Amino acid sequence: MDIFQTVKQVSIVDIVHHYIPDLRLRAAGRTCTGRCPWHKDKNPSLTVWPDSGRWKCWACGIGGDQVALVAKALNLKPLEAARTIARDFSLPVPGVRRSVSPEVRQKAQAAAKERELQAAFAAKVRDTYLSLAMLYRCINMVFDSPDPPPAIAWWVNRLPVIESLMDELMIRDDEVRRVEAVRAAREWGLCG
Ligand SMILES: [Zn+2]
Repeated sequence: MDIFQTVKQVSIVDIVHHYIPDLRLRAAGRTCTGRCPWHKDKNPSLTVWPDSGRWKCWACGIGGDQVALVAKALNLKPLEAARTIARDFSLPVPGVRRSVSPEVRQKAQAAAKERELQAAFAAKVRDTYLSLAMLYRCINMVFDSPDPPPAIAWWVNRLPVIESLMDELMIRDDEVRRVEAVRAAREWGLCG
């Protein structure tokens, strides 16, 4: 695996958070959207595809993968951008062999484990958010249908709760509240 493939393991969402912290992404179906930092963006023109690691601004016409985003954000050449990602996310860089002490290796392994847990949690949050968003849309669709079943009233009453859970999941700097929101959604049987 070369360095460009290696850095593709990093989620594009994590890349955005790390290198463009001001860019707030909102999940919308299987994509995320946000305001493009490279033009005066009133509407969220920037789309990010977490599944493929791609991004695109529909107004500027620019886009690409993780490396292209970091290259653009930090004004680097692609190889420099890939190396920057590898360094910042402590990824093993192919072709670079270092003799490291056991402590250093242990530390790196612990960091890798921590990253794995964080990535798993981020995926959980994303899945929960998408499930809630889908439920929210379904409830509204059924409610707006010509002959909604009486049971929909119970669900319509829960729309504000679903909405607030979705908001909680978007709070990036408060892990505890996000964990709570995931737990609440799971208790509802909304998410696995
Ligand atoms: Zn743009």
